[in-house]
Amino acid sequence: MNFDLKQAAKHVVADLRELAKLTSDAKGAQRVAWTPLWQKSRDWFANKAKESGASIEIDSAGNTWATIKGKSSDAVVVGSHIDCVPNGGWLDGCLGVVVTLEILRRYGNGGQKPEKTIHAVNWADEEGARFGRSLMGASAASGTMDVKELINLVDNDGNKIKDVLAKYNVHLDKILNAHREFKKRNAIAALELHIEQGPVLENQNKNVACVYGITGVERHFIKFTGQAAHAGSFPTEIRQDAFLTAAKSALAFREIALKYNGVCTVGKVKVHPDVVTIVPDECVISLDQRSIDKKLLAKMYKDAQTATKKFAEKDKVKVEWSKIWTIEPTIFDKKLVKLCKESVKEETGEDTTMYSGPLHDIAEMAKIIPSVMMFAMSKRGLSHCKEEDTPDSKLETSIRAFLRLVNKVVC
Ligand SMILES: [Zn+2]
Repeated sequence: MNFDLKQAAKHVVADLRELAKLTSDAKGAQRVAWTPLWQKSRDWFANKAKESGASIEIDSAGNTWATIKGKSSDAVVVGSHIDCVPNGGWLDGCLGVVVTLEILRRYGNGGQKPEKTIHAVNWADEEGARFGRSLMGASAASGTMDVKELINLVDNDGNKIKDVLAKYNVHLDKILNAHREFKKRNAIAALELHIEQGPVLENQNKNVACVYGITGVERHFIKFTGQAAHAGSFPTEIRQDAFLTAAKSALAFREIALKYNGVCTVGKVKVHPDVVTIVPDECVISLDQRSIDKKLLAKMYKDAQTATKKFAEKDKVKVEWSKIWTIEPTIFDKKLVKLCKESVKEETGEDTTMYSGPLHDIAEMAKIIPSVMMFAMSKRGLSHCKEEDTPDSKLETSIRAFLRLVNKVVC
């Protein structure tokens, strides 16, 4: 390969530092989507892409597209998101956007014309940090977005999503045009490089992995209803304590997670009436269950329901489940996974594969075109905080492996 991978990886890290300096303060990165600093970072990316010879276009959902035409109109989509959570890190999302600059530089400005057309993309609002809706730009492009679910969203200050997005030239009644625009791009594959945001690779002493899928999610509220009573006079044996039934259930969920090699999280607990001298008559908890295996996820969900019913019956408490959100596991394209594994092996000498617990923009692409992603290790598994980091040498290894993958898919 005459393209200097080592130099390219160093350029990416230097660009990442430049962006971090431009858009961070003492608390971390502040590129929250639909804010002035996000706009600044979008412009930063668009200008650099333009300098490399790419043509720039913003679609109806606010996604930035930087394109270099290939010999064929078949196109490869490569990218991630530049937006972040408040007080975020310097790599989440940015890594996968900034790496595309080096791809554009390689093929743009009189460089070797690629076989396939390259669309580098900065997806708009992956995090949903301001309005609570994740994967906004990517789901508009994939066409899976339900605009009705967005209309009533407001930020913490009461600003309506419709008004805020309009300031950035995104109009909710036209946002789904992004899907029609996407179809015209003739994309046949999508690739994303991202940091792991967890401790798995570090614990195995690995720097980079091929990601073969993203876990599915079953997310529910569970409401337990018992009987309020006096905390002093009412005997323990005959209480209908809604909180205790919820607590027993939460412990059972942990066993279910271990049994099926998935994860179960009770992240919310609301006790009623929330008074120290009253036996709780109501307790609502959330349950988020994830697995890469569709059948196991279904079993985890069923076992959790069975457990709550068993405890509820014993405690003479009523239990009701209500769905918050569910999504099936994403399994990436076999051929692309193979190329991705090869690229990781060429760079590291090792076969490292894993699946992702968090969702990513590419999950939207995987619904409509062959896709795959690659992970760089995260130091201490930390992300969504200012401590988020990957040491330079490990970051560069992951960048080189990803550039190899892009080369295999584009050529
Ligand atoms: Zn991200």
